Amino acid sequence: MRSVIIFLLSFGMMIAKAQDTLMFDRINKHVYDDELFNSEAYSDKAVVWSNQLTAAGTWPDIDYTSKAISLWPPGEHLDRLKALIVAYVSPSSKSYQQKSLYGKILLAAQYWANNRFESTNWWHNEIASPKAIGVCLILMKFGREKIPNNVEAELVKLMEKGNPYKMTGANKSDIAMHYFYRALILEDQNLLAAAMEQLLFPIQLVDGKEGLQYDFSYLQHGLQLYIAGYGEEFIKGISKVMAYVHETPYAVNKEKLDLFEKFLLETYLPIIRSGYIDFNVHGRGISRPNILRKGQEVGILRQMQLIDPAKNEVWKKGLAKLDSLETFVSDDQSTHRHYWKGDYTSHLRKQFHFNVRLASNRTNKSESGNGENMLGKNMTDGVTNIQVFGPEYYNIMPVWEWDKIPGTTTRDYPDDQELKEQWGAVAVNAFSGGVSNGRLGASAMSVQYDGVTAQKAWFFFDKEIVCLGSGITCSAVEPVVTTLNQTWLNGPVVWNEKEVLATDSLIRNVKQGEYVMHNRVGYYFPQATKVGFTAKEQSGSWSRINRSQSKDPIHGKVFKLWFEHAVGPINGSYAYIVVPGTERIEHKKMQQLRIWRNTPVVQAVEHQGLAVTQAVFHESGTYQIGKWSIQVDKPVILQITKEDAAFKLDVADPLQQEKTVNIHLVNKKEKVNQTVYIVLPQAEYAGSTVSKTIRTDR
Ligand code: CA
Repeated sequence: MRSVIIFLLSFGMMIAKAQDTLMFDRINKHVYDDELFNSEAYSDKAVVWSNQLTAAGTWPDIDYTSKAISLWPPGEHLDRLKALIVAYVSPSSKSYQQKSLYGKILLAAQYWANNRFESTNWWHNEIASPKAIGVCLILMKFGREKIPNNVEAELVKLMEKGNPYKMTGANKSDIAMHYFYRALILEDQNLLAAAMEQLLFPIQLVDGKEGLQYDFSYLQHGLQLYIAGYGEEFIKGISKVMAYVHETPYAVNKEKLDLFEKFLLETYLPIIRSGYIDFNVHGRGISRPNILRKGQEVGILRQMQLIDPAKNEVWKKGLAKLDSLETFVSDDQSTHRHYWKGDYTSHLRKQFHFNVRLASNRTNKSESGNGENMLGKNMTDGVTNIQVFGPEYYNIMPVWEWDKIPGTTTRDYPDDQELKEQWGAVAVNAFSGGVSNGRLGASAMSVQYDGVTAQKAWFFFDKEIVCLGSGITCSAVEPVVTTLNQTWLNGPVVWNEKEVLATDSLIRNVKQGEYVMHNRVGYYFPQATKVGFTAKEQSGSWSRINRSQSKDPIHGKVFKLWFEHAVGPINGSYAYIVVPGTERIEHKKMQQLRIWRNTPVVQAVEHQGLAVTQAVFHESGTYQIGKWSIQVDKPVILQITKEDAAFKLDVADPLQQEKTVNIHLVNKKEKVNQTVYIVLPQAEYAGSTVSKTIRTDR
């Protein structure tokens, strides 16, 4: 009897073991398919690299002694080894399962196993190298000849690096990823379960910590906006692993899948326009070539088709729209969002994108580090990304004048200044926020940086964005400027319907009502002002902004437009209206935009065509704004929208510290005279918009 039970038990264990192996085979196959997708690019290179490999298993052009921080040459060895392996296991390759290629693979693998190459940058040792080894070993499971057990064991040993439990965000996921690979190589269920738990751990909302936020922005390196860069790695890593384990006991649960999809569909993909992402969300990554061009999103969407087939229509639509000028997913293609945790506003239309990056004493300013983004000191000071076509700023960074970043109010130095603080410093100002009804909104920020103070505000409507600045004060010797834009020159610049032929600097006193058109973006001046303009060649190099990059000179023609506030402005101001996605400015339409106030205490604009009034109150008090008399007992950002027999109020607290606000509204023409008591959102929702509708007496 006992022997029968033992027999049955061991038989059961054998079946379970066979099922485990089947599951591991299935996951390995998913990894293999994913890695081989688009692998043709490797094929020709693999032939070259295979021929160049020495008998010692090295490549003569790789400096194996280098300890470089950012681009670490020995890492290239693993990239090439992977290319050889892909060529060996890929049925479409010319050298598929070729014995001679296998010999080369073994040489290169053995060389890496024998030498324990390390960079002085932990990231290469604990993330990049173990991940690369893991992929190589999994792919070799599909070779006719395998890597010998002793070599495999040595390489697996080299993968035992990093600790996901000690890391956050994308770094945690990256380390857990090579734990996952190691679990597959060793067919280790416990390691697989632990790796999956860590891989899916970042899919949760956090507050005051790095990771996915309650406003669905993504922060890393302190509370620093990184929707692309680290946020992008989060998406890529997790979608990949969710696809690997779909239809296994390790598949992601519904709750986490919903959070992940919300970030992907509502935050990340929408700010890509025709294949180019907003430069505001890339942190120090903007100092790397080609970074704004997004191509791998096709792969992500294909994986989502596997992971969540119920949403196939959404994924199909996304794939169709990735490279088009249409905004992602949303059917009417008009969304406005303010990210109160990330200090970022996106305003998306079918005709254009207009996004703003802010900063506060609750978030880190954009960082420099590892010799990257050396000149990015103003990248968080109210920076505007204006896209109509998509590539307006693509690879412009080497030739930018870095104290004239689009949207900012700054000291205009003779030479660009380096960003001294490394890895992001918290901004000084507390005032930063935005109100939004999902379609329209207003955002504002008190800049206090580099000796410049300025109250900056943006009023977003369907076709126009009104940009106001007030309280501009600076006692430094450099003149102060506010830059409307600095983008690649594309086509003619038209000033009041006349083409400008200037090839050099031009300073103009413009009259109220003048405007400039360039590349389907109009800049309208609602008041007389002094404007600087150039449309000429600018030059630089990638190494100028990123020490690891090429010193080769780069040049190109750049359109640059700015306000001159001169030296030592005291309470200076500016106003301009941007009309993106158009060929001409209609003066009649501009008359519908009424700039009622632009002082250091209140900035307010009414769009009479849309019957929307937006106001930024820097201080409590009673203010006349058009036909409205508005009393607020706290600093708030307010939007009043006329509805049928009512007004909708949208309110946000830009200091994120108040519990309630009383707003007394009087408008005789509209028969409104009432006080509205508003309870403001708290904790992780402090700074978000709360809405209330008031009925009129009619
Ligand atoms: Ca300058």
